[in-house]
Amino acid sequence: MAVATPPPVIRDLPELRLTQRSAKPEGTIVTVRGIDIGGTGVIVMAGPCAVESASQLMTTARAVKAGGAHVLRGGAFKPRTSPYSFQGLRHEGLRLLAAARDETGLPIVTEVIDPRHLEMVAAYADILQVGSRNMQNLPLLEEVGRSGLPVLLKRGMSATIEEYLNAAEYVMSYGNPNVILCERGIRTFEPSTRNTLDLNAVPMLHHRSHLPVIVDPSHGTGHAWMVPRLAAAAVAAGADGLLVEVHHDPGSALSDGVHAMLPADFAAMTAQIAAVSLAIGRTLASAPDTAAAVHRGSE
Ligand code: PEP
Ligand code: MN
Repeated sequence: MAVATPPPVIRDLPELRLTQRSAKPEGTIVTVRGIDIGGTGVIVMAGPCAVESASQLMTTARAVKAGGAHVLRGGAFKPRTSPYSFQGLRHEGLRLLAAARDETGLPIVTEVIDPRHLEMVAAYADILQVGSRNMQNLPLLEEVGRSGLPVLLKRGMSATIEEYLNAAEYVMSYGNPNVILCERGIRTFEPSTRNTLDLNAVPMLHHRSHLPVIVDPSHGTGHAWMVPRLAAAAVAAGADGLLVEVHHDPGSALSDGVHAMLPADFAAMTAQIAAVSLAIGRTLASAPDTAAAVHRGSE
């Protein structure tokens, strides 16, 4: 029986246009309230997984500011695996984040999980986070693209680099150049860590794209005690910044307490990150200009 000639291989994905390195060889710097993300300075985003109460958020916000953070993180809308887990304080959580920004001067990054919430979240956030579970939620990518606000796009837990860059391409294709990439670990066969932090992604994303790349070693490992070592490794690999979870009392956290760092460990980590940054010809970015930020309030 004659063997049929196989058809020629057809590349089904068009080339990247806006995200590819050659579109902006000098690299993109995303500036948030005076803080450059993607420049020489390495930046640190830190805070609780979820906003739980005014006192929890303010205690942690003051602690991460004192420990050297540049941006405050905190989830108001939490995309939890179980519908019975804490889902976030929603609008009240956004209000508490804005109050923490007013007091500390730290810009805020918070997750948006649904295009229907975009307007509400965008009224408070300095950076819109798109989480791993939503990396290919195309209507959401369209809306954050149209918003024009800086977007922190986390890598999908099973997404290839190609799929990830195409998700960033969606955001940019709706007119938003302010995209920050975030490697947060991928799902592998290894169960001893929550995810496998793919530090290969850092030089590969920088090679293929001009967008800033940060790393989340908290979700990438699932163990607070591992976070400082992977944070140092991420910066050594060229990451433009870090995203880490910190809680003043991890044992009482309503989500992700197991990988939340204590404030003292966070401060020790940023000191080490400053040293690693210097060793590779960078610096830890200077602290946000608190006076100017407070003056602007939550405009
Ligand atoms: C988070 O940052 O709190 C989070 C839910 O992360 P991820 O989307 O990476 O799981
Ligand atoms: Mn979390």
